Amino acid sequence: MFKDSLIDTIAAISTSLGEGGIGIVRLSGKDALKIADEVFLGLDKIKPSQFKSYTMHYGVIARCGKMIDEVILTLMRAPRSYTREDVVEINCHGGIVALRACLELVLEKGCRLASPGEFTKRAFLNGRLDLAQAEAVIDVIRAKTDSALDVSLGQLRGSLSREINTIRNNLLKELSFLEASIDFPEEGILQPQYSEKLEGLRRISASIDKLLKDSSLARIFREGIYVVICGRPNVGKSSLLNALLRKERAIVTAVAGTTRDVIEEIIDIQGIPVRLVDTAGILKPRDVIEREAVRRSKKHIHAADLVVIIFDGHQKLRPEDKRLIRQVKGKTAIAVINKIDLKSQIEKTKISKDFGAFIGISAKQSRNIDELKEAIARIVFKGRLPAKESALVSNLRHISSLREARKLVLEAQESLVDKLSAEFIAQNLKDAVSLLDKILGRSFSEDLLDKIFGEFCIGK
Ligand code: GDP
Repeated sequence: MFKDSLIDTIAAISTSLGEGGIGIVRLSGKDALKIADEVFLGLDKIKPSQFKSYTMHYGVIARCGKMIDEVILTLMRAPRSYTREDVVEINCHGGIVALRACLELVLEKGCRLASPGEFTKRAFLNGRLDLAQAEAVIDVIRAKTDSALDVSLGQLRGSLSREINTIRNNLLKELSFLEASIDFPEEGILQPQYSEKLEGLRRISASIDKLLKDSSLARIFREGIYVVICGRPNVGKSSLLNALLRKERAIVTAVAGTTRDVIEEIIDIQGIPVRLVDTAGILKPRDVIEREAVRRSKKHIHAADLVVIIFDGHQKLRPEDKRLIRQVKGKTAIAVINKIDLKSQIEKTKISKDFGAFIGISAKQSRNIDELKEAIARIVFKGRLPAKESALVSNLRHISSLREARKLVLEAQESLVDKLSAEFIAQNLKDAVSLLDKILGRSFSEDLLDKIFGEFCIGK
């Protein structure tokens, strides 16, 4: 059924649809070279089907002798191409009119317009990538920071797939032993083998555990963390946000209570996308708008991964500060004393007592802002910065399959301890293997592929 979808030769504009230096129309499939022969006129009159793989050629794309664009054509012959099929890439001028005209021409000559992600789907169906690797392609495209890119590239290169394959092979080894004891029940599972098998299963669940534990880090890299800046009016929240962003985005003013609503920005701290929210620090709302702002800021503090609570170092602690301290109790928080450029008036010992430590900064003079960023990164990573090449599961689909597989392996361990029948234990392990197979795409449904590749852009 899936192979049917591989019969057509597909084409799409593979670059983004705006003005650019170049734009690429990509063709893939068995007729890609034949169609390229019909539309491309090279300087030396040699046809694309005669070009060597991985060569580039200057020429024009023309319809009935009329030039559409001046182009460079690149050819990658099957199986050494992105899709493992013959692939032709036509580098046009970057304007949308030339690109569309070129695409329309190859469609007229017999290509079908590719659906979103169809080139990558073909790479998967033709066995060049497994499903986990194919899914990494979109993450590479969407990576927001260097670290997110590292995680996705690692997955694309197969770091996660190798890890999953190792777990799968270990499961199969245990399974073959159990199946032998099902086939020869008179021999049964002997006592010394029980503890050996139990140890094997424990090692398997431990390796799944490790993947799941590190997945929180991968999600941090990919989706970032949610940092809320809070403090009573005028302590310098907007100024800090500005200092962090190094641009004037939030409104800064000397009148208390200007930041009535939340202002959100994303910054990159040591490779982590950090969503910063500056909340209204109003204590006694005077009107409906302020009440709503307070309600929202409470909501944000509740949802935050990390709260940065700011105090005005030039003033003594006020009841509003103390109330906020109570409000952030139980949350991961960093205490910041702002305005260290002015004479210190604040009760520092009280803050140290409540938060363990604090960082003194001057948002106005951008002093100690890097120290604050480092403190944020330290708290987020808790000293667990993963090695660049380690496999990190960041995809929710993979995480949920791994969780289920882990549960089954743990159940199998319990069954082994309870000396339940080998059939029973084997079934759990078989189910765990098929969950891992789903991650790798050894088994898949059309719906799953539609869901995964439907999120891709056209042309990828
Ligand atoms: P918010 O209400 O908490 O957002 O406070 P703002 O960022 O609007 O700052 C309130 C006032 O404090 C403004 O006049 C700022 O210029 C001033 N301010 C902020 N940070 C500092 C600082 O580090 N030193 C000094 N001297 N003034 C600051």
